[in-house]
Amino acid sequence: MGRLDGKVALITGAGSGIGRASATLFAQEGAQVVCVDIDEATATATVDMVVAAGGEAVAVRADVSSVADSETMVQAAEDTFGGLHVMFNNAGIMHSDDGDAQATSEEVWDLTMDINAKGVFLGCKFGIPAMTRSGGGSVINTASFVAHLGAATPQVAYTASKGAVLALSRELAVVHAREGVRVNALSPGPLRTELLMKFLDTEEKKQRRLIHVPMGRFGLADEMAKAALFLASDDSSYITGSEFLVDGGITAAYVTPE
Ligand code: NAD
Repeated sequence: MGRLDGKVALITGAGSGIGRASATLFAQEGAQVVCVDIDEATATATVDMVVAAGGEAVAVRADVSSVADSETMVQAAEDTFGGLHVMFNNAGIMHSDDGDAQATSEEVWDLTMDINAKGVFLGCKFGIPAMTRSGGGSVINTASFVAHLGAATPQVAYTASKGAVLALSRELAVVHAREGVRVNALSPGPLRTELLMKFLDTEEKKQRRLIHVPMGRFGLADEMAKAALFLASDDSSYITGSEFLVDGGITAAYVTPE
C-alpha cells in the first residue's frame, strides 16, 4: 500500500532538485505524476526515472509564470490521469543579479516575482478548481526559510517572492478549507541543490552559510520530498494554512554550536 495510492500529483520544477526527488518518491508511493518543467528535457528525464522504477508519470513543458501554460498543465493532469489531488507548486528561481534594493534591477525583480510568486498563484488558480472537481486534495507551495530571516548577503526579490508564497498559501487555505482542499507551504532551509550551489559557488561561501545552520550541513532534496509527501498524503489530513519548516534548525538559531 502506497501513501498516495489512487492520487494524481502535479509537480512543477520536476526536472531538478526537490521536484525530481518528489516525483520519484510520490510515484513510489502510488501516485500518478505530472512532471512539469520549463525545461522539457529534464522533465522527460525525471519521467524516465519514474517509469524505470515501475511508476507512472508524464512530462509537460510549461512556464509557470504563463497563464496559458498553467492552464494547460492542469488540463494535462485531468486529460491523462482523470483528475488532480496533489498540486506541488515548487518551481522557483534565484537570480544571480538579485541583491539589495539599490542593486536589483526592475527586470530581475519582475522575473523573480513572475516565476516564484505569480507562478504559485497561477498553479492555485487552475489547480484548486481541478482538485475540487476531483473531490478535494492537497496543495503544497514551496516557500523558503528566507521568508523569516534577513541576510546580509541579500536577494530582495527572491526573499519578497517567498514571503508572498507564505501569505498566499495561508489565505487560500482559509478560503478553501470547507471544500476539502488543504493548502500548506513547505519552507526548506539551505539545500545542496543546483539552485543554491550555483549561488554559493566557492567553499568559503558555503562555509559562511553553514555557520548559521545548527545541524552544520546542507539539506537534501530527498529530505524535502519526504516532508512534501507528508503534506501531500492523508497523514496530514488536519493540517491546512500551515508551514512546514524543514531547515536543519536555521530559523530556531540565535547562536549555533562551534
Ligand atoms: P532547482 O533549480 O534544482 O530546480 C528548480 C526547477 O524549476 C528547475 O528544473 C527549473 O528548470 C524549473 N523552473 C524554473 N523556472 C521555471 C518556470 N518558469 N516554469 C517551470 N519550471 C521552472 O531548485 P530546487 O532547489 O529544487 O528548488 C525548488 C524550490 O525550492 C524553489 O521554489 C526554490 O526557491 C525552493 N527553495 C530552494 C532552496 C535551496 O536551498 N535549494 C531553499 C529554499 C527554497
